[in-house]
Amino acid sequence: MKIETIAIHAGNHADGSSKAVIQPITLSTTFTREADGSFPAGYIYSRSSNPNRTSLENVLARLESGADAAAFSSGNAAGMTVFQTLKPGTHIICPDDMYHGLRNQIKTLFAGILEFDFIDINDTAVLTSHIKSNTGLIWIETPSNPLLKITDIKKIVEIARKHHIKVACDNTFATPIGQQPLALGVDLVMHSSTKYFGGHSDLMGGALITAEKNEWWTKIRQVQEMGGAIPSPMDCYFLTRSIKTLPYRVRGHVYNAQLLSEYLQKHSKIEKVMYPGLPSHPQHKIAKEQMLNFGGMLSFCVKGGSDEARNVINKLNIFTQATSLGGVETLIEHRASVEGPDTKTPHNLLRVSVGLEHIDDLIADISQALS
Ligand SMILES: *Cc1c(COP(=O)(O)O)cnc(C)c1O
Repeated sequence: MKIETIAIHAGNHADGSSKAVIQPITLSTTFTREADGSFPAGYIYSRSSNPNRTSLENVLARLESGADAAAFSSGNAAGMTVFQTLKPGTHIICPDDMYHGLRNQIKTLFAGILEFDFIDINDTAVLTSHIKSNTGLIWIETPSNPLLKITDIKKIVEIARKHHIKVACDNTFATPIGQQPLALGVDLVMHSSTKYFGGHSDLMGGALITAEKNEWWTKIRQVQEMGGAIPSPMDCYFLTRSIKTLPYRVRGHVYNAQLLSEYLQKHSKIEKVMYPGLPSHPQHKIAKEQMLNFGGMLSFCVKGGSDEARNVINKLNIFTQATSLGGVETLIEHRASVEGPDTKTPHNLLRVSVGLEHIDDLIADISQALS
């Protein structure tokens, strides 16, 4: 089956008794036992599992071509689950431009529990020099946030395999429509489903998808069930519903992002545009090889500094100034101020989550804001 068909059918379990075409929302927290004490449908209590969560996990696993998927209440809860399954003292290697929420989580909540280094993992010499006997995990995020840097997934996997290190990939920016990390050898994919999966800026969620049902996966399932950072049946329902249109929404985001980046690149008030779909992007060639499309996220630097960048934002009418990404509406933000004082993001950089409005309206809006 192709991915458009999977998105629509893999998560929809129609109700046999009512003949409803769409799966109902099962709000019940508990499920009836048979006379012999058994649970014929396999459901006992909703923290352990729920029909809507099962449906969501089924479609997530299929979209990423994984063996299984686990849904969480946020992307950070999914990330936290990964770190909680590592033996105390394990060393993890993360990119220096890792999503700031997870970087802060590791630095704040795992200090003294895990060892960690934030490095330029795209530099092979730097990466190999940081591998130690207790290194258990390499975390990658590509395209990265907010610089849209591309990591060569196959290259990292090759290095990791030689040292028996697991690789996890935050695939939030690319989505499975744009990139299939498990097919490139990654062990585990992580998502903030708050972004493109939800797609309408109205729910929080996270996901992990595994290449194999191994010992590590068993521990991940234990943290999910015992830790209880699970999404509600409502959120699972809405996510499964939104995922049905994910492949077509992503096409629209990619189409608009390519045209917007080409427009910005030619503009005299723009210093630089970061979009993997531009031939000027330093890793355009790797992006072309490992991605199925170049995604809907771009960043650009306005000539000048923080004030010039903020002026542009404040003159925009259709672009909304807000953090987050992946929704149908275009969002723009001054990333350095979101990330706080330890940010390495240039102060003239604006990050755009390109939405599904008509591209002519988006270009007209940014054109008047830059004039
Ligand atoms: C938003 C985001 C996260 C965290 O997800 P939440 O749903 O906000 O907890 C992790 N990684 C990336 C790349 C993100 O954009």
